Amino acid sequence: MGLFTKDIKTMNDLFVHQLQDIYYAERQLVKALPKMADKATDAQLKQGFMTHLDETKVHVQRLEQVFEMHGAAVKAVDCPAIDGIIEEADEVAGEVDDKLVLDAALINAAQAVEHYEITRYGTLVSWAKLLGRADCASVLAKTLAEEKNADSKLTKLAESRVNLQAAE
Ligand code: FE
Ligand code: ZN
Ligand code: FE
Repeated sequence: MGLFTKDIKTMNDLFVHQLQDIYYAERQLVKALPKMADKATDAQLKQGFMTHLDETKVHVQRLEQVFEMHGAAVKAVDCPAIDGIIEEADEVAGEVDDKLVLDAALINAAQAVEHYEITRYGTLVSWAKLLGRADCASVLAKTLAEEKNADSKLTKLAESRVNLQAAE
């Protein structure tokens, strides 16, 4: 963002800005997910984080593909929102003593991440269609579906086992 000029003038500019924002977020998550997997005790949760790490690496590649399809430079802009969610997750995790309670806290943090991504990709799919880019929309929709799936797997894991064990 320029300090003295407003760089976002059109819906297309806004679309590209939001791509740059989520591109930054996905790359931060590629760094954060292995740390979350390390902290997890439940084997399925640990594996779930690693599986979503693989998906997240594909999300980064898909965004690069969308930038190219749209004729925009592959670029990231800081996303204070994702930095805040990750920072809060680290803070809370650092204060949890019990390993099983920590698993519940990690799921809580991971779902905040997924919900952030779901809102951003939901908007991006909608804006891509608005801008006549059904091709970009369909690539972004693949990621949106994977974020929703990751979120619902976390809900199932929390409610079927992790939260119950943490509460014992
Ligand atoms: Fe993602
Ligand atoms: Zn942001
Ligand atoms: Fe995700």
